[in-house]
Amino acid sequence: PREDPELIDELRPDMVLTAPGVPLAGPLFVRARAAGIPIRGENDFAFECIARLAGREPFVIGITGTDGKSTTTALLAHLIQRGAGLSAVAAGNIGLSLSRLLLSGGPLAYLLEEKPTVAGETAAVGTPTWPLLVVECSSFQLELVEAFHPRVALLLNLADDHLDRYPDREAYLAAKLNLTRKMGAEDVFLAPSELRQRAGGPFGGRDIELLSQEPDEFGFPGAPLLGRAEFLPPGPHNATNLRFALAALEELTARLNLDMDRERLATAVREFRGLEHRLEFVGQSGDLRIFNDSKATTVQAVGAALAAFGETPIFLLLGGRAKGVEFDALAGYAHVRAFAYGEAGPEIQAALGLQRAYPDLKTAFEAAAEGADHLKSRSACVLLLSPACASFDAYGSYGERGAHFRELARARWKLQPPETLK
Ligand code: ADP
Repeated sequence: PREDPELIDELRPDMVLTAPGVPLAGPLFVRARAAGIPIRGENDFAFECIARLAGREPFVIGITGTDGKSTTTALLAHLIQRGAGLSAVAAGNIGLSLSRLLLSGGPLAYLLEEKPTVAGETAAVGTPTWPLLVVECSSFQLELVEAFHPRVALLLNLADDHLDRYPDREAYLAAKLNLTRKMGAEDVFLAPSELRQRAGGPFGGRDIELLSQEPDEFGFPGAPLLGRAEFLPPGPHNATNLRFALAALEELTARLNLDMDRERLATAVREFRGLEHRLEFVGQSGDLRIFNDSKATTVQAVGAALAAFGETPIFLLLGGRAKGVEFDALAGYAHVRAFAYGEAGPEIQAALGLQRAYPDLKTAFEAAAEGADHLKSRSACVLLLSPACASFDAYGSYGERGAHFRELARARWKLQPPETLK
């Protein structure tokens, strides 16, 4: 792919659509702007096309936040499908862009045929064919919003991230809050209270507070559904993701007059195993458990991973390409031994007061694994890749990095590949 501004002169496009990886302040967009060519966000433009073709807006549940977007998007789509028996598509930043969805035609065909059962409209209740679009939105995808209108929006949390691309935190927050830009009083906004206040409104919905401790159970106000242990993804942060998803379902149930079967919903919650590379269990060697959290590219996500293991000693691998944020918050965990590596290795070494940094994941892994093997005969412990950085100094993606880590662990401890993850 090319990003050079000459493309604008060569192609003279009618419109330029942004991809999340290309900064709006970059030379290609500067040239387009100077040439008077409209610039639209891909998500936003695809939404408008779907709405125009179908003659009405698709029912979108938009999900953003610093961490937990993909997990909550996949979880909510799964609960709508398996728990409520409705058609739902997980789209957007999670992999299936709205443009691709539009061009595939499938869900659009449903939209053209079926009337959604939004309160106030008269179509049949609980029809299983029309799809709800659960759309994961990165901050980059929310920078330009003219049409994108979620009926239900979730802003999961906000922490420092992408400060290499935004001038400051306010600019990053402003992009996230653009999720609600087209929303009105009849729409639902779920977020922690502080972020709901920042968004203004008025919107329907309610505050969802973040948990630092595990809850005993999950459910709806006054109506417990199942115990914490029945939901597999570990840590208070995953409990929060589920609480967001259930709150969204509660709103959908009310607004779409759904007849939600509680047993079926509880089964759907039990089925969800989490996504690959997000605190993914790789295997166990004696009392040592190994987790791949390669998708943890923020300090907040690493903090969440550490919180999932209580006081158990952790050998933590972190490093890669820094994203302009401070690592200091990761210092001072007495039960965590950190092994910093890669481009950001020296910066992390300084922030955490480590004795040394390693050139790459493999050498850091070997040092950490040796320490873990030593400790595991005496104490239960965890080896965790939770890098707090992007992977691009050495890998094409977080997926490649996580796969490499899994290979290293499997080879060292002769682990069997686990069952396929959802
Ligand atoms: P995103 O799509 O926002 O990057 P993911 O679901 O892919 O979120 O998870 C990214 C990382 O953040 C993983 O390390 C995961 O364990 C962690 N994470 C997931 N949910 C949360 C949350 N609610 N708060 C903090 N960290 C989280």
